[in-house]
Amino acid sequence: MNTALETKSLGLRYGKAWALRDCTLRLPAGSVIALVGPNGAGKTTLLQLVTGLLHPTEGTVEVLGQDARAGSAEALAKVGFVAQEHPLYQGFSVSDLLRMGRALNLRWDQPLAERRLGELAIPLAKRAGSLSGGQQAQVALALALAKRPALLVLDEPLANLDPIARRDFMRTVMAAVAEDEITVLLSSHVIADLEAACDWLVLLKGGTPQLAGAIEEVLAGHRMLTGPRTDA
Ligand code: ATP
Repeated sequence: MNTALETKSLGLRYGKAWALRDCTLRLPAGSVIALVGPNGAGKTTLLQLVTGLLHPTEGTVEVLGQDARAGSAEALAKVGFVAQEHPLYQGFSVSDLLRMGRALNLRWDQPLAERRLGELAIPLAKRAGSLSGGQQAQVALALALAKRPALLVLDEPLANLDPIARRDFMRTVMAAVAEDEITVLLSSHVIADLEAACDWLVLLKGGTPQLAGAIEEVLAGHRMLTGPRTDA
């Protein structure tokens, strides 16, 4: 298997408390990977280590074979990231946000972003702050995808969306997967939100992966241990 993401004994500690520990994972390229775990499980910490926003206390993290620890511009150029609250600059128009992205990224694909937002009928002249939550999520996603990432990382992208916006958001993600050859890593509290879209699953608890593998296998193992509930 081609590896999109590999961590070895990855850990991050705040004072005496480990937010993530003993995290060893090898995740396949070209897959859609769900990272599921309850509050405080370490999901955001792992995603921020992958995107180079945090530097590990111990261990290594590689994105497509390159060291992703903070500072590796080459590795991070390949990663698109939408943070948990995807705080768009509310006062700027969608066009302004696209222009800023173009100024900051060498591989920026403005026509692609404009086409995707056009298909969703999101007006580019509107201020980001005046868009609905679902539209803002789509803009944040379009900005991450315009970077033409090999790995797209989404931190709890569905958390604050209504069911229709969730469905539309996942449709855009899946269209991007079909069109561009990307690997997607996205987190959630709830397996059921991602089950249909994902083909790989990592269950995180207490800062350490408990189970990881092809989604049907992990879910079969998980249900044997916990019964029919789908919550992590
Ligand atoms: P949530 O679903 O609530 O976002 P999570 O799975 O993303 O949770 P993290 O945000 O990665 O979990 O947090 C993992 C642990 O690290 C938690 O116990 C959290 O309190 C702790 N933690 C996170 N950030 C900090 C920080 N800046 N300082 C101290 N502890 C932190």
